[in-house]
Amino acid sequence: MSRMADLRNIPSVERLLQTRLAAEIIAEFGRPLTLQAIRSVLGDVRRSAAGKPQTTIPQRADILERARTLLENWLEPTLQPVINATGVIIHTNLGRAPLSQATLAAMQAASHGYASLEFDLASGKRGSRLAHAEGLLQLLTGVEAAMVVNNNAAAVLLALSALANRKSVIIARSQLVEIGGGFRVPDVMKQSGARLVEVGATNKVHLRDYEQALAEHPAALVMHVHRSNFKIIGFTEEPELKDIVRLTHGRGIPFVDDLGSGALLDSSRYGLAHEPTVQESLAAGSDIVCFSGDKMLGGPQAGIITGKAELVDRMKKHPLARATRADKTRLAGLAATLTHYLKNEADHEVPIWRMIAFTPDQVRQTAEGWAVEIGQGEALPGESTVGGGSLPGENLPTFVLALDVKRPDQFLEKLRRQQPPVIARTENNRVLIDPRTILPEQEGALLVGLKNALGKKG
Ligand SMILES: *Cc1c(COP(=O)(O)O)cnc(C)c1O
Repeated sequence: MSRMADLRNIPSVERLLQTRLAAEIIAEFGRPLTLQAIRSVLGDVRRSAAGKPQTTIPQRADILERARTLLENWLEPTLQPVINATGVIIHTNLGRAPLSQATLAAMQAASHGYASLEFDLASGKRGSRLAHAEGLLQLLTGVEAAMVVNNNAAAVLLALSALANRKSVIIARSQLVEIGGGFRVPDVMKQSGARLVEVGATNKVHLRDYEQALAEHPAALVMHVHRSNFKIIGFTEEPELKDIVRLTHGRGIPFVDDLGSGALLDSSRYGLAHEPTVQESLAAGSDIVCFSGDKMLGGPQAGIITGKAELVDRMKKHPLARATRADKTRLAGLAATLTHYLKNEADHEVPIWRMIAFTPDQVRQTAEGWAVEIGQGEALPGESTVGGGSLPGENLPTFVLALDVKRPDQFLEKLRRQQPPVIARTENNRVLIDPRTILPEQEGALLVGLKNALGKKG
C-alpha cells in the first residue's frame, strides 16, 4: 500500500537505525558516514515530497538501499589502476611511466615504516634528503651536483627563481612552448620574476641573434627548452647547443637546458629518432640540465636538476626548494630506477624501455595469440608512440589486435567499465588493442575484460 506524501510518514533517522539492514551498512561503512548518507537521502526524499501530495514516500528498506548506493559512490576510488591498450607508452593522463619491480619495492620499503630520509646513518646526525639521488646522478652523468624536486616544472621554476634573480633570461622564440596541462615556458618565466628576452623568429634563430641579445641585455642566463611535443619542419634553423653555450660563457653567465624528457639511453638504438640525452647536453657545456623523472627515465614523478655545484647550491638554498621538495617515497623509487641505468640493465628492467624494445614481431605474435584466445579480431600493422612530451611525430611500428564491433564508441565505454578498466582507441571504425603497453601481468585481466565486453563467457 502506498502512502500519500505526508512528510510525517518519512521515517526518522532513529527508526532507520533500528533495522538489521542499517546495522549491516554500518558494519561496512562505519557509523558517521552511514548517518551522513542516510541524512542526505532523507533530505532528497523530503525535497521531492514537499508540496507534491502524489509522491510516494519510500519504505525504510528503500531509503537504506539508496543510502548504501550513495556510500558506494562516495567511496568508489577515482584513482584506479587501468590497462593501457592505447600504445602510448608515456601516457600523461594514465600516469606516465609504469615502474620497475625494484622501484616499487624501494618505494614500499621507504614508506611502510621510518626511513633514513634526513638522517646520516654513519654519524647518527642529521642528513640531507638530497643525498639519496645525488651520488647516483654524479656516477651516471659525471655532474658536480644534482638535486631532485617535485617535477620538472618545479625544477624550471626553481632554476629561474634562484639563478635569474629578476634579471633577463634569453631564450629562442621557437622554444616558448606549452608542454600541456597549462605549463607554458613564458608563464613560468614570469612567475619566477625573470624578464623574458626572445630571440630569433618562430622558425629560425641564428647564433648572431643570441650574440646581439647578449650584447644588448645584462642577462642573468641563457635558457634552452627542448621542443618536447612538436616539430618545426621546413625552413628552419637553430645553432648547435655547444655554440650557444660558448657565447653564453663568453659573457660569464650560465646556460640552462630544460631537456623535458631527458633520456639516459639512446632512443635511436630502437629505430626511433634521437631524443637528446642528459649526457649530451652536459657534454655540450650546459651548466644546468633539468628533466622529468617519469618521462623517458621511466621512474616516479620527479624533477631532476644536474649541473655545476655552485649553481645547484644556490637552488638548494632557495626558499622554493622547500616548497618543491620530493618526498621519501619517490626519492627511494628514483634511486632504484637510477640504479638500473648504473647496472646497465635499464633496457630490460625499466618497463618503458622494455616496451620500446618490444619488436614488431613479438607484438604481432601476442596480438595473434589474443585473437585466438577471444575467438575474434585479427592482428594488423599499426603504430605505437612514445608520448609524454618526447619524440613528437615519431612512431614505433607495432601490431594491434583489431576488433570489428557494431558500435566502436560504445564498446570503448564497455571496456572502461571493466575491472580493471581497459583504455583503448578506435580507428576506421575498429577498436584497436596495442599489446605494446600492456604489462605481462595484466594479460589475463585484459582477456577477461575483452570477453566480457564482447558478451562472451569463460
Ligand atoms: C614535460 C616537460 C616539462 C614539465 O615536466 P613535468 O615533470 O611534467 O613537470 C617541462 N619542460 C619540458 C621541455 C617538458 O617536456
